[in-house]
Amino acid sequence: MLTLLDEVPAGLLQCDARQLISVLPGPTLIRLAGKREEVLFISVLLHGNEITGWEALRSLLSHYRDKPLPRSLCLFIANVAAAAEGQRCLPGQADYNRIWKVEGVVAEHPLVREVLAELAGMRLFGAIDIHNNSGMNPHYACINRLDAHFMHLARLFSRTIVYFIQPDEVMSLAMAAYCPSVTLECGQPGESTGVVHAQEFVEACLHLSAFPAHVLPDKEVDLFHTVATVKVKPDAHIGFAGVGADFSLLPDMDKLNFTELPAGSLFGWSGGERLPLQAWDEQGREIAARYFEVHKGEIITRTPLMPSMLSLNREIIRQDCLCYLMERLPPAQAQQKYAD
Ligand SMILES: [Zn+2]
Repeated sequence: MLTLLDEVPAGLLQCDARQLISVLPGPTLIRLAGKREEVLFISVLLHGNEITGWEALRSLLSHYRDKPLPRSLCLFIANVAAAAEGQRCLPGQADYNRIWKVEGVVAEHPLVREVLAELAGMRLFGAIDIHNNSGMNPHYACINRLDAHFMHLARLFSRTIVYFIQPDEVMSLAMAAYCPSVTLECGQPGESTGVVHAQEFVEACLHLSAFPAHVLPDKEVDLFHTVATVKVKPDAHIGFAGVGADFSLLPDMDKLNFTELPAGSLFGWSGGERLPLQAWDEQGREIAARYFEVHKGEIITRTPLMPSMLSLNREIIRQDCLCYLMERLPPAQAQQKYAD
């Protein structure tokens, strides 16, 4: 199921994400030796339509075609089949960034075990998983442990850092068991600024000899904690601008991402007096009533909150979630509180 390579195959760097399938039979690990032995792991295309990671790697590998890499690399080119169709995942496939907990039985778990078994045999320096959003978001880095090394890795990409532990089936959380690990959110697919930013970040990681051990001071980062995942109820029909749906999105609702909203803010419309949203906290409790209420068809926020990952794409809202809710954490205090 997993293809293992020790070199960049001929023709690979000429392929865009949709064309990779002409060179790679499926999910592929490529191990490349560099001057420093400890391996930088980079995964791209866990979501087949999020092409920024592949574009950044393509450009980076072209740059190093005739010279040694500063550090060994292990590249995981994930959902090649979905990338060929420009889809997040194909019908019948699991979401490739929701399979890394290896509990239960999904068809992708043998692949996950193969990848993790390969990685367990390597001396890993850091792990980077590169994604895009579908809505308007700043570039930011996500971590799953409030550890100084993780914070330094994330800060190399952005001063905006999001800490989360749910969903817990993501690759960056699995990789956190081995080394400092980060998920990059590089804006929307197709934006060249995201590609350049991701490539510069990987370059910086390739040249980094070690992570500083000191705690990052508060003025250096904006750290947010994801406290809830918001979903539209499974039986609710999603529409736009308040007409005839169980849940209607605000026009340009994705502009609310990373905006601190006061209590009493409008957060969409309900087709009736029933709240069409669910919110799940880190312990898996349903707590939507803490954050939202319905008043004359308007969904109103009850507490100050800050959303991220709001998207206007109904398919993504259905497949994944409507958004996450975040609160600000004082970085230095948080690192000391959670540090191992
Ligand atoms: Zn993604």
